[in-house]
Amino acid sequence: MAHRLEKRVLLEHAEDPDLRTLDGYRRLAGGYETLERAYKEMEQDEVLQELEDSGLRGRGGAGFSMGKKASFLPRGDMAKYLCCNADESEPGAFKDRELMQRNPHQLIEGIAIAALAADAGHAFIFIRGEYDEQADILDAAVAEAYEAGYLGTNILGCHRDLELVVHRGAGAYICGEETALLDALEGKRGNPRLKPPFPAVQGLYGGPTLINNVETLSNVPHIVRRGAEWFKGFGTEQSPGTKVVSVSGGVRKPGNYEVELGIPTRELIYDLAGGPEEGHEIKAFFPGGSSSPVLKAEEGLDLPYSFEAMAEAGSMLGSGSIIVCDDRVSIPHLALRTARFYHHESCGKCVPCREGTNWTVKMLERMVRGEATPMDLDIVSSVQQNIIGHCLCVLGDSMAMPVGAMVRKFREEFEEVMANPDLVLDPHAVVQGAPETLGAST
Ligand code: SF4
Repeated sequence: MAHRLEKRVLLEHAEDPDLRTLDGYRRLAGGYETLERAYKEMEQDEVLQELEDSGLRGRGGAGFSMGKKASFLPRGDMAKYLCCNADESEPGAFKDRELMQRNPHQLIEGIAIAALAADAGHAFIFIRGEYDEQADILDAAVAEAYEAGYLGTNILGCHRDLELVVHRGAGAYICGEETALLDALEGKRGNPRLKPPFPAVQGLYGGPTLINNVETLSNVPHIVRRGAEWFKGFGTEQSPGTKVVSVSGGVRKPGNYEVELGIPTRELIYDLAGGPEEGHEIKAFFPGGSSSPVLKAEEGLDLPYSFEAMAEAGSMLGSGSIIVCDDRVSIPHLALRTARFYHHESCGKCVPCREGTNWTVKMLERMVRGEATPMDLDIVSSVQQNIIGHCLCVLGDSMAMPVGAMVRKFREEFEEVMANPDLVLDPHAVVQGAPETLGAST
């Protein structure tokens, strides 16, 4: 059962295993009725307008308007593509996994309707290599959709075609970056491309390409079915709709919770995710996965959980993944673990990221070993400043923003660890792995 604070749209009926099948999706959720109406009764521009009017912002991290992005694709007879970014690899994010696992047809229907809006004839789901089970589920659902005539040639007799391929990644975090994803799909090493040109103009195989995240596309059938005004009835003016939020780390009930955007962050962490374990307090949290600047409990818990409130606080909502740190977490060790992750995942193409992540790891290692001086903290901060905004893609910033914020906001803790490296009680108390189920309220 959903908690009173949850607002389930994408996760409605999620506990019912039948939802995975075509029959179950039709029976429980009116599956593919919207696709049928869109293909038989709506023009491309009507679908596009509905998506634009809804104000749906991308749920993958950047938060850009989905409808606007689709409208950037040029008109004409050239081959156009739609890519669903299912390469969910950000530490702390596990909501796309759940959406694909529990309701694959919702995503497929969303892709088919978005392809109509973008006039795309080929679509791909680029799924994270480690999501084996979810890829199998998607493969089975895609086969059912082809069989039923919702994909393929002459869909529902409407003289429109759409081929959909599930493509498995090979485990590189950088392939979640949209242009690296395109290179990987083309069979090359997944390296980010220089932008412009943007994918909407020159993307997959050089053709106009719409790239959207799993959660973004899963919203599409609901918006087209119930209208933009219905969608805007949830959330805030600048952050309309619901959001599936992954909450993990130092909470008693980690899981995915679908809520209206703008809900008080405290309610998400305490009322839904159960708050910290007995005898502990929340020290800080990352509101948008490991790449978002950390917020101290006192500066962030009472903010609304929305794109705009998190940005005003100097952080970001990102993909909507809250990582909670209780009072046992050593922030300097967490900074080191974060830097190691991004250093390992850097593709090495540009100097500020390749060298900056390397130097940051080395300096943080010296700090936790007690071999650094307070001046080194200023150097680490300045290295982060020189990375931000100077890289080819966002990966460099993804390390520099959280590490820079941790050093700035917890300087005393860094100095303490540097002076007494043996005093750290639990250097590995950072973040638990992603839980397997919906939030424990179910
Ligand atoms: Fe590669 Fe990092 Fe540069 Fe991105 S920022 S292109 S991951 S080296």
